[in-house]
Amino acid sequence: MSVNIAIDGPAGAGKSTIAKRLAKELGFIYVDTGAMYRAMAYYFLANQIAAEDEAAIAAACPKVDVTIAYENGEQQVILNGENVNGVIRTEEVGNMASATSVYPVVREKLVELQRQLAKKADVIMDGRDIGTCVLPDAQVKIYLTASSATRAKRRYEELTAKGVSCDLEEIEKDIIERDYRDMHREASPLMQAEDAILVDSSDLTIDEVLEELHSIYEQTVVA
Ligand code: C5P
Repeated sequence: MSVNIAIDGPAGAGKSTIAKRLAKELGFIYVDTGAMYRAMAYYFLANQIAAEDEAAIAAACPKVDVTIAYENGEQQVILNGENVNGVIRTEEVGNMASATSVYPVVREKLVELQRQLAKKADVIMDGRDIGTCVLPDAQVKIYLTASSATRAKRRYEELTAKGVSCDLEEIEKDIIERDYRDMHREASPLMQAEDAILVDSSDLTIDEVLEELHSIYEQTVVA
């Protein structure tokens, strides 16, 4: 049986950085589920389908094929045969993903793909509903969070380092809005699973968070 590690939490808590490194160190496959919702969102944007138009979203879903491939250990998201990794990381796509992931028709499609991946291999999967819905039997469940101010500051520094001009207050407002939407939607809202361990990264470095997760893994899986 494969070993599954679920990491959930709000946007900007450091899930993907941490999950990617932990996967490398443990020899697991990293599955970024947010990228799948972003790929669907990218399709809706490219086809001028409004986030509010649930009927159009439902009609479009059967035409959207999302699959995952790995290149040098990096996850690639393939949308209808095209690698979209390079175009799904924008704020526009992130906000569209948050707005369209509320629809069960969108979620059902991706949850099935995520479960298939976890069945086949040892995976570290990150997202919003992994411990609560996608992999309820995951051997390790982590809820990784940080204050909205910390998350906004991290995002601000990331964008500024890339030469993108941005506004810290605007970013924090966006983060709070996205959290609210993710936590209050009807279908699989973001929440800590009852058996998940809470890790707050506000005052921790990446190495310190990793150390904590390694120790949780040792205690739950290896012991
Ligand atoms: O993690 P990331 O920012 O890439 O996710 C984009 C959006 O996709 C999130 O704001 C959330 O609304 C949605 N998502 C989700 N369930 C997941 C992963 C992401 O609803 N498992």
